[in-house]
Amino acid sequence: MVFAGLADGGGRPALRFPDAELTYGELASLAAGLADALAGCRRVAVFATPTIETCVAVVGALVAGVAVVPINPRSGERELQHIVTDSQPDAVLSVPGEELPGPLGDLRRLPVTLAAAPGTLTPVDRDGETPAFVIYTSGTTGPPKGVVLPLRAVTSNLDALADAWAWTAADVLVHGLPLFHVHGLILGVVGPLRRGGTLRHLGRFDTAALGAALAGDATMAFGVPTMYQRLVADCEADPDLARAVGGARLLVSGSAALPATVHQRLTAATGQRVVERYGMTETLMNTAVRADGDRRPGTVGAPLPGISLRLLDDAGTELSEMDGETVGEIHLRGPNLFLEYLNRPDATAAALREGWFATGDMAVRDPDGYVRIVGRRATDLIKSGGYKIGAGEIENILLEHPAVAEAAVTGEPDEDLGERIVAWIVPTAVRPSPDEIADHVARQLAPHKRPRVVRYLDALPRNDMGKIMKRALTSAPPGQAG
Ligand code: ATP
Ligand code: MG
Repeated sequence: MVFAGLADGGGRPALRFPDAELTYGELASLAAGLADALAGCRRVAVFATPTIETCVAVVGALVAGVAVVPINPRSGERELQHIVTDSQPDAVLSVPGEELPGPLGDLRRLPVTLAAAPGTLTPVDRDGETPAFVIYTSGTTGPPKGVVLPLRAVTSNLDALADAWAWTAADVLVHGLPLFHVHGLILGVVGPLRRGGTLRHLGRFDTAALGAALAGDATMAFGVPTMYQRLVADCEADPDLARAVGGARLLVSGSAALPATVHQRLTAATGQRVVERYGMTETLMNTAVRADGDRRPGTVGAPLPGISLRLLDDAGTELSEMDGETVGEIHLRGPNLFLEYLNRPDATAAALREGWFATGDMAVRDPDGYVRIVGRRATDLIKSGGYKIGAGEIENILLEHPAVAEAAVTGEPDEDLGERIVAWIVPTAVRPSPDEIADHVARQLAPHKRPRVVRYLDALPRNDMGKIMKRALTSAPPGQAG
């Protein structure tokens, strides 16, 4: 059984949303009723609004052995058309009354309500290779791909995280993450239910509500870096919030790199040290800083139990260095890997070779095995003047400048250098000059890491997870740095 506590029911709290709550017993009978209605389905779309009904829909499908395709409710017509055509769901599950956009409206509709007729749960032992989810990637580097995740990837990964974070039935997890990516849905919903603990979902992220939950019974919180950025600013202004955050057992950040400045400022304001983990849709979580480990800023910790990680150079040779400097591409093997990209045998064959998955992410390893992500091969690794330069290191330095609110670094073609470094800046109230920005970086880092061009924006292009969409960073009036 995927979920502890579901089969034996009971009055323990399973899910708490701002407007609704379910005990394990109530969740079990609602899920069982839904599972009956799903008989004969192979795959269903779930219109993943941040509601308790979305959780019921997902649990019902998992109980029925039907794969879930979570849908971002804010998807555009084109995106929905792609997902529906690609995944061919047998039905769409949603809250009654919710208007379903475009292509979703043409699917058979199954309502999910807390007033539905309850069923009786009959636990089934399912083959671990059964597809549990088809989740579309964030589309940061290209069109989203449907990742088919088997049950064993979900269960083994959640158990590995439980080991790393001492995550038990006594934990109350709080977050306000969207429920259509692995972070909010698999770690954030299936995670606490597998442990037999409780999820408190905020409906939408809000620092005051997060603080109230942590001051109450919540023991741990999940978030993406942009949420921690907001939390830091509010903790610096509000000692009560800072105290609540400081008292949490565990705060976890993921989905994108947590800027070192955010980690350090949060520690200064609250005493709390955020733990980072590194994962992807295709692999769930690969590395994590352990709850009892050294919580250093800028690292995502060591590989989780059962997962092998190696770094390969451009020639495909395994690197043995653990010197914090030698950069290679992360390759992974373990029970956490996906089965395939849906309808994309070419992409699957290119990414999965002899049991190893090539992530496209570049990293270094510290002597103690801690991994530090340098960035994506496609967008974060700049080849300039014969050097390979990671965008993240420069972004972290840029964020230390008092007049820089947000920063991203890219490379663009350059006749002399191959690529030149471009710094994209969202200024605070005052706009620093290109030279001031470039000099600030050059004071902290080697000369070849000095930005050649500085571009100013009102906001960085980000997706629903707060990830910077570097593909969209292509034009803005340049300011040349001398
Ligand atoms: P697409 O594959 O469609 O281009 P995507 O890779 O952004 O989109 P996801 O699977 O949601 O889609 O994101 C996984 C990626 O997020 C990882 O490959 C990595 O680059 C990044 N990532 C996740 N966690 C971290 C972290 N803690 N630090 C740095 N990067 C991270
Ligand atoms: Mg990806």
